[in-house]
Amino acid sequence: MQRAATDRVRRTTLARVHADIISCDRCPRLRAYCQGIARDKRRAFRLETYWGRPVPGFGDPHARVLLIGLAPAAHGANRTGRVFTGDGVSGSGDFLMAALHRAGFSNMPTSRHPGDGLALRDTFIAATVRCAPPDNKPTPDEIANCLSHLRAEIRALPRIRIVVALGKISFDSYLRLLKADGVFLQPRPKFAHASACALPNGQTLIGCYHPSRQNTNTGKLTPRMMDDVFGRVRSLLS
Ligand code: SF4
Repeated sequence: MQRAATDRVRRTTLARVHADIISCDRCPRLRAYCQGIARDKRRAFRLETYWGRPVPGFGDPHARVLLIGLAPAAHGANRTGRVFTGDGVSGSGDFLMAALHRAGFSNMPTSRHPGDGLALRDTFIAATVRCAPPDNKPTPDEIANCLSHLRAEIRALPRIRIVVALGKISFDSYLRLLKADGVFLQPRPKFAHASACALPNGQTLIGCYHPSRQNTNTGKLTPRMMDDVFGRVRSLLS
């Protein structure tokens, strides 16, 4: 009974946060880019209606683990409306989901479209920037504009104990968010794959290379390296 009431409150709070994200238009360059991609489409998806709006996070409202990606892919999450979803068979979504599935944080190893039945366990996936940026490169101002959405989402997820930052930009952005909220770290942690840092707020921050094609196709990031990260997450949780 208590759990059901808590669940309702968390879902309602998250829904409010997500409504704010979806209606945001603080970054004119990114909004124009996302809408242009949604209008012009890729040939393979020409019959689909693209999402074309900012993309909220996705996952378990009771999660203890938060993953922070960089930004939606132009024809991935900007098309499907769900983070790390629909960017192809060898895309970052499937690579990440396979790792989460092996570690027991996901009920399936792929992330193809919002109606695919994917459910995350004890895990929530957010992003540093919610609109797809040209060349996957948001500007510093755009990152700063979007951090308030990450903060709001994290406040709606009170059980978060472990934050996995996917890539250096997400890692540094999270530290910036902490600093803005009065959490100072001396010395400042440096991004490294599978590094773990205990934070004064009781969370642990873990670095992980971003599962972009650039990293997975070149062997910079392998499935085993992802397993190292999520194995570490598992042992910290237990
Ligand atoms: S990137 Fe973030 S802050 Fe900028 S328009 Fe999109 S949702 Fe708003």
